[in-house]
Amino acid sequence: MDVTFTKEDLAFRSEVREFFVTEYDASVAERSKHGKNAELKEGIITWQKKLYAKGWVAPSWPVEYGGTGWTPTQKFIFETERGIAGAPAVMPFGISMVAPVIYTFGNAEQKAKFLPRILSSDDWWCQGYSEPGAGSDLAALSTTAEHAGDHYVVNGRKIWTTYAQYADWIFCLVRTSKEVRKQQGISFLLIDMKTPGVSVKPIVTIDGKHSLNEVIFDDVAVPVENLIGEQDKGWTYAKALLAHERTGMADVADSKRALAALKDRASVEVNGGTAMIDDPVFQMRLSDIEVELMALEYTELRVIAAMAAGGMPGPESSLLKIKGTETTQAIQELQLQLAAYYGGALPGNLEPEAFGHAFAEEARHGYMYGRAATIYGGSNEVQRNVIAKMVLGV
Ligand SMILES: Cc1cc2nc3c(=O)[nH]c(=O)nc-3n(C[C@H](O)[C@H](O)[C@H](O)COP(=O)(O)OP(=O)(O)OC[C@H]3O[C@@H](n4cnc5c(N)ncnc54)[C@H](O)[C@@H]3O)c2cc1C
Repeated sequence: MDVTFTKEDLAFRSEVREFFVTEYDASVAERSKHGKNAELKEGIITWQKKLYAKGWVAPSWPVEYGGTGWTPTQKFIFETERGIAGAPAVMPFGISMVAPVIYTFGNAEQKAKFLPRILSSDDWWCQGYSEPGAGSDLAALSTTAEHAGDHYVVNGRKIWTTYAQYADWIFCLVRTSKEVRKQQGISFLLIDMKTPGVSVKPIVTIDGKHSLNEVIFDDVAVPVENLIGEQDKGWTYAKALLAHERTGMADVADSKRALAALKDRASVEVNGGTAMIDDPVFQMRLSDIEVELMALEYTELRVIAAMAAGGMPGPESSLLKIKGTETTQAIQELQLQLAAYYGGALPGNLEPEAFGHAFAEEARHGYMYGRAATIYGGSNEVQRNVIAKMVLGV
């Protein structure tokens, strides 16, 4: 494994750093993280359009469709700098999830119709995989698409569909045959959310926010030209997509930034000169996380080095997902502990602006929403099964 940066890599890093300093508007990104409804959507799109204008919105795409042509090391540098700047990751559903399926398995018309609008963030996509009876056992899905001449008639219900309330399009796994093994009768359909018969019902999560939804299909007519690849072969396409999804879940750059911020805050002195960072138990937990994060970063670099040498992400993507999400949650737990410590000390001891409500609220929200990280993208238990099967051979 060679993870040293070349002179070109270092020059690239300076360019990326400069871009984030000059172009990244923290207030826009703040809106994208904490804003409500239209504000949140607008914040995300504004930032993504800046990346698009620079030609940097889709580093993983082939150059011919608008990718950057970066080496895996350059992609790593970009991600690291993004984390340092605190800029949000690109919304994955269009750029990282459906687009690779379209450019890998779609036909020429589909590529021409969908890819440019995904790249420019003119279309917002959501992912219609999970159903009330099909999560970890995704192949058990029962939303049906019946072939009826020049269209399919779709009926069924998807659940946990992130940001469906903003979406122009949804990519769906649907059942087109019940006569074969369950993985074989599934197809991959692109559905316009404005089609009559599509409705969206909000699900408010324990953090009090609305990002999840149910999407209901009631006799929805979908043109056959919206089928990706061959009918009944959707499972193959979906599996390819899941590997892409999990590889991006290590979140090393974001965790490093969160950890640095945590240390800063824990150094604030209260009660006549004590700070949380002086507590030996807190220190121990902090050090544990730092070691885990460093190990995670090197594992990610190893995967990057293997991909640079022509490999594909394999079971390592499951490993990165498990350790990445566990580390994120460990940081969120410490943030909450910190908020409680300083919250208790606040009256009379500390000016609210020095350590105030905003941090406590962020810690609470991060902790609550963060519980989901070990569930989405394929639960961590299921990822352990993948590793057991593919790495240990059990
Ligand atoms: C915040 C959030 C956002 C999401 N966004 C989307 C989205 O945009 N689109 C979408 O399609 N889906 C989305 N999901 C759904 C997500 O993919 C599923 O929640 C996940 O796949 C788990 O499925 P489930 O919820 O049905 O749980 P289940 O599959 O019912 O699992 C319940 C529990 O049993 C465990 N378990 C299940 N099978 C096994 C096994 N074989 N071995 C060991 N343990 C097992 C699981 O680990 C889990 O702890 C989202 C979920 C969350 C929480």
